[in-house]
Amino acid sequence: MMIWRIAAGCLPTKDKLSRFVDAADAYCPLCKMETETSLHLFALCPVAKAVWFSSKWGLRMDSFGFSSEVDFIHFLCSSTFPNQLCQKDELLLFGAILCDGIWKLRNQVIFEDLPLSCDDLIARVEKLFMEFKNSRLTASDFVNISHPLQSWAPPRCLSVKINVDATIGPFHSSLALVARDWRGDLVFACSQKAKTTFPLQAEVEAVRWAISLVAKLEADNVIIETDSKICHDAIHELILPPPWRIASILVDLKSLLVSYSNASVV
Ligand SMILES: [Zn+2]
Repeated sequence: MMIWRIAAGCLPTKDKLSRFVDAADAYCPLCKMETETSLHLFALCPVAKAVWFSSKWGLRMDSFGFSSEVDFIHFLCSSTFPNQLCQKDELLLFGAILCDGIWKLRNQVIFEDLPLSCDDLIARVEKLFMEFKNSRLTASDFVNISHPLQSWAPPRCLSVKINVDATIGPFHSSLALVARDWRGDLVFACSQKAKTTFPLQAEVEAVRWAISLVAKLEADNVIIETDSKICHDAIHELILPPPWRIASILVDLKSLLVSYSNASVV
């Protein structure tokens, strides 16, 4: 959700607030050196740069020449590591955790007057990243039994492809959607919680959520891509009867698919 809010430009950073209210200062609360914009806060602030550099990729955010937050989000979602889908997914996961951590820290500094500790932030981001990554591995062990990793392929001209993903946590799941057009440009990215810890159920719920957004896209053709073979087969009635846990979601999902004839699940 944080990535989506950054991409949509709807985070109440000080540069945005200063257009509407007479803000006393528009400086970044973490470094107090630059105007607080989303791009600065999450990518170019010395605090953010330290966390990015501490990652396993040792990223130097200065070197990418981002000109806007959309540039930055595109970097997270697009082909930074050609032919290494796992690495791309991991970068987006790390970025989402980092942005969430920085936003919370920024709010603590502003509203609770808490001291800033860069080392604590780095440790927290790394810990959460490993936890999510490991739970994702467990989930993918379950759902990707015979489905090899494939590179992202663009949809045909004037079409949009929504890639869906589900990350399983100990108490709930996180569903994520990333929509790109035929040129590979980001259309939207969003995430939400789901009240399940079962990988297949989470994946099917993510597909249903993606279908529910088709009308808003106004695209000729929308392809919803899942990397779960079991999910795909269940939707296309290749597994009969469907697993009981997803039966009612499937009924709902199929009636949505009937309503949107320009949508398909692959
Ligand atoms: Zn700063």
